[in-house]
Amino acid sequence: MTKNSSNVMALSPNTSNKRETVCIFGTGDFGRALGYKMIQAGYPVVFGSRSTQTSSLIPKDAEVLSHAEAAQKAAIIIIAIQRQHYNFLIPLAEILRGKVLVDISNNLKINQYPESNAEYLAQLVPGAKVVKAFNTVSAWALQSGTLDASRQVFVCGDDMEAKQMVMDIVRALGLTPLDQGSLLAAQEIENYPLQLFPMWKFPILLSLGLVTFFFFYCLTRDVIYPYVNENKDFSFFIAISIPNRICPILALTLLALVYLPGILAAIIQLYRGTKYRLFPDWLDKWMLCRKQLGLVALAFASLHVLYTLVIPIRSFVRWRISSQIVSQALNNKTEPLDNTNAWLSDSYLALGILGFFLFVLLGITSLPSVSNNVNWREFRFVQSKLGYLTLILCTAHTLVYGGKWFLSPSSYRWYLPSAYMLSLIFPCIVLVVKSVLIFPCLDKPLTQIRQGWERNPRYSE
Ligand code: NAP
Repeated sequence: MTKNSSNVMALSPNTSNKRETVCIFGTGDFGRALGYKMIQAGYPVVFGSRSTQTSSLIPKDAEVLSHAEAAQKAAIIIIAIQRQHYNFLIPLAEILRGKVLVDISNNLKINQYPESNAEYLAQLVPGAKVVKAFNTVSAWALQSGTLDASRQVFVCGDDMEAKQMVMDIVRALGLTPLDQGSLLAAQEIENYPLQLFPMWKFPILLSLGLVTFFFFYCLTRDVIYPYVNENKDFSFFIAISIPNRICPILALTLLALVYLPGILAAIIQLYRGTKYRLFPDWLDKWMLCRKQLGLVALAFASLHVLYTLVIPIRSFVRWRISSQIVSQALNNKTEPLDNTNAWLSDSYLALGILGFFLFVLLGITSLPSVSNNVNWREFRFVQSKLGYLTLILCTAHTLVYGGKWFLSPSSYRWYLPSAYMLSLIFPCIVLVVKSVLIFPCLDKPLTQIRQGWERNPRYSE
């Protein structure tokens, strides 16, 4: 009886201006929000629900019918219902034969079930054409129209024609469909909305660890040491002086850690004599989050700039300058200009300004809107050549700042060197190894390896 003409509705793309009816199962938050949006886009919408009573929440131009009745009215049915309730679809299998079922569901945990919800739906209703879509768009975003952040709709499915029909609807709603291939991609698509800044986890945790370490390091050297040895209370250093030590240390160390994995990868490839063997997992993960490491480094560099700008208005600094002036006046003696010091101070500032300028440039070019507008060579030029130049300038900035105190015993409190000395470890390793790697005897074989040459070829010609 119910196996009528709607089951054999042609699945051809809609070429006329009139939109085909779309059925939505479920009158919950997402079903209603999608229904509103579809009616706005000119689609007749029919809801399939356990209760056929309409309420003020349901779009007034939509019909509400039982699941079986609603399904017969459309070739496309959007299942706006949680996976755990999908069993109610089993008795409807005959009505749903040949229809396009759009699975929009998400789970509470990553890889919660052995198979994706869309594959599970395809198993429950084998005669239907299942397409995964819309799960990365929220009901709130659909309703409020603030779709800027989530305009992309990932679509996957085994039936090309069905997928095309869903992508047409996505476009009609003002969204951008991204074809992700067959239904095998559904699990990955279902995991997207559950990920919490996956690429940011390592950079943030590393930064937190380093900030904690350097905070206690500086506290010991700059606050506890003078208190114990000279009975001086410098606890107010916690507000500006110590953060202004930690920020440049973090900026420089993290910037070096952006370039260190590339160097390790080069050494591994040279050692193995091939690029056709996988890198260790940790190195792969490290390389994938280099952009985020660089952006966190830029954030610390920007904070360093801000903290430095307020130095002249600090009470402690003004007190120190005025007491120096008074002591010179009392002694009736002014100190002559130390030309070497003036040179060092100006060079240190100039290197810092140039380094920060290039740092900002690197950050800007890593933004998708900018990187999409440069070709691969331009992108590599900025990120690699200008990146190394930034690292050189920032390392030089630190060396010029404190190089003269390296051997001074006063720099070692309780045998602890100044914190900025520790910040030079990674940048110096990166720059020294990189300068060795650009020697032709190493650079040439590395370039060959990266073009596919192997020291011990796997396949003889
Ligand atoms: P919801 O507000 O709880 O609505 C779910 C609807 O499912 C209910 O209103 C009900 O509709 C129907 N339902 C509940 N139990 C059922 C059962 N035993 N048998 C048949 N139908 C049943 O949930 P939602 O937020 O709209 O989410 C619906 C689906 O969209 C979920 O799979 C979710 O993962 C996905 N999703 C939601 C969002 C979002 O922002 N909310 C975003 C992306 C994806 P009737 O009362 O009309 O039968």
